[in-house]
Amino acid sequence: MTVTELLSYEAALASFDPVMGLEVHVELGTKTKMFCGCSTELGAEPNAQTCPTCLGLPGALPVVNEIGVESAIKIGLALHCEIAEWCRFARKNYFYPDMPKNFQTSQYDEPIAFNGYLDVQLEDGEVFRVEIERAHMEEDTGKSTHIGGATGRIHGASHSLLDYNRAGIPLIEIVTKPIVGAGDRAPEVAKAYVAELREVIRSLGVSEARMDKGQMRCDVNLSLMPKGSETFGTRSETKNVNSLRSVERAARFEIQRHAAVLESGGTIVQETRHFHEDDGSTTSGRIKDNAEDYRYFPEPDLVPVAPAREWVEELRKGLPELPRVRRNRLREEWGVSEQEMQSILNAGAVDPIVATIEAGADAASARKWWMGELARNANEKAVSLEELPITPADVARVSTTSWPARSSRASSPARAPRTRSSRSAV
Ligand SMILES: [Zn+2]
Repeated sequence: MTVTELLSYEAALASFDPVMGLEVHVELGTKTKMFCGCSTELGAEPNAQTCPTCLGLPGALPVVNEIGVESAIKIGLALHCEIAEWCRFARKNYFYPDMPKNFQTSQYDEPIAFNGYLDVQLEDGEVFRVEIERAHMEEDTGKSTHIGGATGRIHGASHSLLDYNRAGIPLIEIVTKPIVGAGDRAPEVAKAYVAELREVIRSLGVSEARMDKGQMRCDVNLSLMPKGSETFGTRSETKNVNSLRSVERAARFEIQRHAAVLESGGTIVQETRHFHEDDGSTTSGRIKDNAEDYRYFPEPDLVPVAPAREWVEELRKGLPELPRVRRNRLREEWGVSEQEMQSILNAGAVDPIVATIEAGADAASARKWWMGELARNANEKAVSLEELPITPADVARVSTTSWPARSSRASSPARAPRTRSSRSAV
């Protein structure tokens, strides 16, 4: 890998203001694909879950998945977006072997949801509002596996395998407006935004949004403008970043790289970039000029989507409490500090604690069990709390039973749990 010149983070921020744009793809958890009845279940034999529609065979006609549309509307509403009264799908034309139709069915200038926002809370409690440009519906592509190359990429491969099981699985793409004014906290804002969005998606029950399973991935667009300027610089787009930490690292790396190029009198090339987990760097992908033309046009085989206002209002009424609001409410009810709440969140203990309290335990002992003994146990076994063979009802029963004095064990009080990210607890 070629060594990239970087400016120190502090020096970069002393001269420039970062502008970010985040594009997040979420794979919906529908049982069937977006435009056909094929199953979306993972783990099937390659190409077992395909049909003439998702293989793009001549004459096959798509039909819209109603749950897909409903999920998109729910996401739009939870992000405080307006919901289109009438919108269409569009064909995004390009050739790639993992897309047998030679176009992706997407939405272009008529997204189902637009003009929203998501408030995200940073680690010190500050709330930053990220404006949402749009959320639109589209379909996933198939999966290419390149054989023989050193890095799994197509370069140097002897041949490629194609699996179309994923082709046609519904995706929602959520695009922010340019995020300005975050300054040196831009990478933190990016991470907090993706984390909060993930919580929102999960609370709606429309996707598990597991980044490690590729159900949620983020493209990080970044550019710099000289301090005091209001003209955006040329941006780079780091594709398919698939963990929260990587989102933060990718933004940070690109700030330092752009600054180094600009400070030395160079120009930023508008391109896509690949992120590398091992050292947190990005490398050049494909040049992307402004004239990139997908020849979008309205999809003639699908009727427009015109969600009835009554339906939209019904979905709005059915929205769950937003995760940030719920967290703040629980924090107050449980009487814990921001920091404690953060470690409860990091440990994945919020829902188990809520369920234990519902099963009859008091908040303090529910918290003590899940964040103490059980967290330690889960940590040792490298499983999540919910994967432990103990239910909230069990914990409630144990915590409401009075025990004889534990004098013999009093010298070894439960240590604080050592979860992967409990560093913010100390
Ligand atoms: Zn199909």
